[in-house]
Amino acid sequence: MRRMKRFSLLLFLLGLLMLPARADQPVLRVRGNTWPGGILFVSVETGRFTSGTWHWAGQSGALTRAPYGLRTGLAVPLDASVGGTATLRLALQDADGQALELTRKIRVENKWRPVQHLTMSASNEAKYTDPQADREEVRVLAALRDLQPGARWMGNFQEPSQGPRSSPFGVRRVRNGRTAGFHRGLDYADWTGAPVVAPAGGVVTLVGPDYVLLGNCVVVNHGEGLTSLYLHLSRIDVREGQVVQPGQVLGAVGNTGASIGPHLHYATYFHGEPIDPDLLRAFPREWAPEAR
Ligand SMILES: [Zn+2]
Repeated sequence: MRRMKRFSLLLFLLGLLMLPARADQPVLRVRGNTWPGGILFVSVETGRFTSGTWHWAGQSGALTRAPYGLRTGLAVPLDASVGGTATLRLALQDADGQALELTRKIRVENKWRPVQHLTMSASNEAKYTDPQADREEVRVLAALRDLQPGARWMGNFQEPSQGPRSSPFGVRRVRNGRTAGFHRGLDYADWTGAPVVAPAGGVVTLVGPDYVLLGNCVVVNHGEGLTSLYLHLSRIDVREGQVVQPGQVLGAVGNTGASIGPHLHYATYFHGEPIDPDLLRAFPREWAPEAR
């Protein structure tokens, strides 16, 4: 009887050992917020699949390695149709070249956004149609879409400015009576010369001196497709290629470019699509466990 018991215990333990090996079925999880400007924190728990591609909102890119398998952060586009359903598609590959596709339907939820009316001088308004501004935008967009492997940030993002917030993320803007799209970042009204600090670790990938629309601007790449942008600075204290630590001064608040008063415009992106910066202040613990 005792031997039987011991034998069944042995079988049970063997079974436990065999289970993960038998069932290496990748587990797809999507955390985060499904409203426009929200972040989908996508994770694939797998030991077998070591690379893959995501397809979402008309774009695609490489999944990056995580301690549990693969992951990516994705933006729900600000102009996504609310109430509609979008499909996230992941194409996974293992070391032997075997492929597997995973899909998930995502319903885009509503989020109320106020309308903000702005009055701008004719000289500022003219900057929006300056061909030089288009050339500068191309450079900035390339920097925002630059996927750099490996996370350069640890833990949650902090505020880049101590100034009071003057315009929230995602508001719909009307400039001089004309619809001007969504506010793709958030604004802090502060005095000219107040410090602007890196909210998290990263590398400076663009320093734009005196851009027509954006003024003095900086892009920080945090790795894995996550970037941040700082506009209208009065001063830039970093150079391209410089590694920055959280809290390190990037420059100072100013009123350069198409700006109607001293302020910092701070914007964050996954793969070049704007995301609500406040969502980076609380990453899902399970999505980035190595950062704790
Ligand atoms: Zn702004």
